[in-house]
Amino acid sequence: MLKGKTALVTGSTSGIGLGIAKALAAQGANLVMNGFGDVEGPKAEVAALGVKVAYHGADMSKPAEIEAMIAYAAEQFGRVDILVNNAGIQHVARIENFPVDRWDAIIAINMSSAFHATRAALPAMQAAGWGRIINVASVHGLVASAEKSAYVTAKHGVIGLTKVTALENATTGVTCNAICPGWVLTPLVQKQVDAKAAGLGISNDEAKKQLLGEKEPSLQFTTPEELGALAVFFCSPAGNNVRGVAWNMDGGWVAQ
Ligand code: NAD
Repeated sequence: MLKGKTALVTGSTSGIGLGIAKALAAQGANLVMNGFGDVEGPKAEVAALGVKVAYHGADMSKPAEIEAMIAYAAEQFGRVDILVNNAGIQHVARIENFPVDRWDAIIAINMSSAFHATRAALPAMQAAGWGRIINVASVHGLVASAEKSAYVTAKHGVIGLTKVTALENATTGVTCNAICPGWVLTPLVQKQVDAKAAGLGISNDEAKKQLLGEKEPSLQFTTPEELGALAVFFCSPAGNNVRGVAWNMDGGWVAQ
């Protein structure tokens, strides 16, 4: 379905981004990957699906590096047809104790990076008459939790940006939508599981059960594969007129 298209997924060396990259590659899209940590392993997982894979190591807190990454993607494959703004970090603390440098980093990486990548990628999509921008927000773009001020602020902002991007391109073939996962067991969440286990002196399994039990009625983690399938839907012809939605896949979290 996506053969000949190019997808750029930020933060695709791990977790949800890697799951979305693999789902798009399975539909034939060439991939530009991004993110820190091990690069070769995730690249090989995507390349094994039979598509071309490139990588750019832009730090998503740096606008100039984001622009360079979009330009690199165009040099490699012609243009970016599908942009998935996914890179993100977390820090958990009450507002009065929240480190200012963590606030700045979360706002830059989880929110402003989506603006910078979108503004750089949009003109080529508009010229081509087709494009998909998918912002990985969170249930925390729809509702709040204590001790996540920067994250909740950034994710609410991303949903606002999603709506504006969708509206400004509403008469074109360029759509923009947000995905709002509940708990997904990636390294970002494992850290919170570890902190709960250590803080309460309980096992890792018990900490996972408690984390799910507090928020997610299904008592199940959403998977990167399920989120990848939602991204594929947004890219499909059935998604042509889906514009500006914030679609939660959250086991019933925000239905409560
Ligand atoms: P993860 O830690 O597994 O992956 C994060 C990715 O972002 C990694 O590839 C990492 O290298 C990259 N990254 C971090 N800082 C970066 C930077 N400055 N520049 C470039 N890349 C950077 O986490 P994840 O759970 O897969 O999170 C992916 C997205 O999903 C995030 O936006 C997160 O907020 C969102 N999300 C996660 C959950 C969850 O439960 N895991 C729920 C809702 C939303």
